[in-house]
Amino acid sequence: MPTLADVLARETREGELYDVLPDGRLRCYACGHRCPLPEGAIGVCKVRFNRGGRLLVPWGYVGGVQCDPIEKKPFFHAYPGALAYSFGMLGCDLHCAYCQNWVTSQALRDPQAVAPPLGADPEHLVRDAVADGARVLVSTYNEPLITSEWAVAVFKEARAAGLATGFVSNGNGTPEVLEYLRPWVDLYKVDLKSFDDRRYRELGGRIEPILDTIQRLHAMGFWVEIVTLLIPGFNDSRDELTRLTSFVAGVSPDIPWHVTAFHADYKMRSPGDTTPEMLLEAADLGRANGLRYVYAGNLPGAVGNLEDTHCAGCGEALIERSGYRIRRYRLTPDGRCPSCHASIPGRWDAAAGDGLRPRQRHVELRILNSEFNS
Ligand code: SF4
Repeated sequence: MPTLADVLARETREGELYDVLPDGRLRCYACGHRCPLPEGAIGVCKVRFNRGGRLLVPWGYVGGVQCDPIEKKPFFHAYPGALAYSFGMLGCDLHCAYCQNWVTSQALRDPQAVAPPLGADPEHLVRDAVADGARVLVSTYNEPLITSEWAVAVFKEARAAGLATGFVSNGNGTPEVLEYLRPWVDLYKVDLKSFDDRRYRELGGRIEPILDTIQRLHAMGFWVEIVTLLIPGFNDSRDELTRLTSFVAGVSPDIPWHVTAFHADYKMRSPGDTTPEMLLEAADLGRANGLRYVYAGNLPGAVGNLEDTHCAGCGEALIERSGYRIRRYRLTPDGRCPSCHASIPGRWDAAAGDGLRPRQRHVELRILNSEFNS
């Protein structure tokens, strides 16, 4: 019986994000690992590999699709109330013990993670997104950087259909992949998981490419929002949060920072859940360090007004939320505060979306091989 890796190895095409090194190895630069791959070798992500001197990369499938409010991604300063049609592939360049998408992200590392790939093509996915009433197409669930070529193919169709596009990513990028994505990606969410390189090494990465990516994303004009999942005992010391939020504010005080609550997931069962008080304290630190748009997530109704967007100029409540629902929307059609006329950073439509549930599911996805050993 074939393994999942065997099945996925057939669903590939030649990638665009690599060079041939003088010694004949291939250098992949889709993510910050920059794997040098001799003939036959597979990258740390387990989905890109050197066969016959060509880098083969994932193509033509998804690990799943779903249409959700964009607030769930979360983007709070981009098309509020819109539906975001989300798709992902399989695999990840990190291996976080608390991953909430581990069934898809760790499908090639963990035999417990069984996620059958579904055959798909960009036209189909975009047609389905439009039928669902989506405003935005988002590559998420697995790490989208490692499947950038596929995401760009889907996003080209999305743009032609008038949709905006986004990545929900760990931010372990490279200058080359960001240049590749820039024409096709509007919104970019980075999970800034810690401000400690040792912690990143536990997760399978390094902090330096992630900080570099955040700086570049902002400088290149992507709309960036940052999320930190606050994990008691892992990344919640005042010192670490002070350095983390100071860094983000140094890139731009207008970058929204979402601090969200941990609950036991996947292999990380031991720390207790993050409490509302912990989120509020972290949010206070973020604001004290200069961030103008700080949000507390995952605990709707328990974090005061930290689900809402306030004008950084006059303090007026501009977008009031309850969980993923918009309760009140007061931005002007050109994205300004109606009271003091300050421009609010973000990507805005003339009005908020209606946050409707997706209309219909049309997509026809084909299970590529229902029989495989994970
Ligand atoms: S995407 Fe990253 S982990 Fe995968 S082969 Fe390329 S550099 Fe290596």
